[in-house]
Amino acid sequence: MKEPPPAAWRARLEIDLRAVRANYRLLVSLAAPASVAAVVKANAYGLGMAPVARALWAEGARTFFVARLAEGLELRRILEDARIFVLDGLAAETVDPVWEEAGLIPVLNRSEELSIWADRARRRERHPEVAIHVDTGMTRLGMSPSRFAGRNGALPTGVTPCLIMSHLACADEPEHPLNARQLERFRAVCGMFPGIPRSLAASSGIFLGPAYRFELCRPGVALYGVNPTPGRPNPMQPVVRLCAPVLQVHEITERATVGYGATYEVRAGDRIATVAAGYADGLLRSAGKRGTARIDGKEIPLAGRISMDLLSVDISALPSGSVVPGTMVELIGGPDGVDRFAAAAGTIGYEVLTRLGSRLERRYLGEEETS
Ligand SMILES: *Cc1c(COP(=O)(O)O)cnc(C)c1O
Repeated sequence: MKEPPPAAWRARLEIDLRAVRANYRLLVSLAAPASVAAVVKANAYGLGMAPVARALWAEGARTFFVARLAEGLELRRILEDARIFVLDGLAAETVDPVWEEAGLIPVLNRSEELSIWADRARRRERHPEVAIHVDTGMTRLGMSPSRFAGRNGALPTGVTPCLIMSHLACADEPEHPLNARQLERFRAVCGMFPGIPRSLAASSGIFLGPAYRFELCRPGVALYGVNPTPGRPNPMQPVVRLCAPVLQVHEITERATVGYGATYEVRAGDRIATVAAGYADGLLRSAGKRGTARIDGKEIPLAGRISMDLLSVDISALPSGSVVPGTMVELIGGPDGVDRFAAAAGTIGYEVLTRLGSRLERRYLGEEETS
């Protein structure tokens, strides 16, 4: 393919929908006989709700989770027939008619939400679906297990959940003792709701083994190529690649420093390339010290601080003349690309993905196969 003309030199984000689908397939085969929902909250972890959700649907995903009601409504406009759970729950003291109109399933987190739902159920013939979140040790969302001590799980009349779920706090640390404790508490609560489908595992939880998978798994980040098994080889395919063009090359002739704060020192003979991407594009500023980039597959260090629109790379180790304005620099890419950038920035792949900037030109690979 021809490089775009200079006026179009822009940082671009490639999102490989075929890899998203391959990752979904892998999780489906691992989780079987459990089924696998797809978590597409926060604009599908920053990658674009519509193209990602359509790709997952084309691969056979029928159940989806989002965080906010507004995200559920957005997803409903994209996928007419999907089963959509909203993790925030009612997030209100009344039931908005929009839940029923859009056919969204709230995940009830508080006892008060149970009463509100029961009130509403009493006034209708058909009871719309609802899920229940039990807090087994994360102290985030969900009802305490003690809430369910009693006949029929002490649920108010009219509330028949279609799913009981909980969330693991330490699934990415297989040896952490909280995993087994949460599993045990979850089993105890589910025992009060025989026959109702259960869901505990997100991405990393699937890899804790069959005991954690129950009837439904809810992976998010693994679909998007982030390693759900930190410290072990990444079983997922990379989904994102971020490249940006060089705008200027500096042949250093005397001692100098690069960028804000003058933190990176260069001397005569070194070469520095200035690249058209910065923290406004989601390249977290904290990655400046330890981050690397690639040109034609060769790894080079970032030089100095990342600024809003620009960053610098040290190209001294590359052949002279091999990097010119317009040369594309890979800032995130390859297997573990997101994880490596996250490690350099002192954060996790989740944050890198959800911060990817809106200024990036987004290209979807394999989109035509899902429309
Ligand atoms: C975000 C989220 C998930 C997905 O988690 P990943 O680690 O991205 O797989 C699943 N369940 C709940 C409750 C969540 O908040």
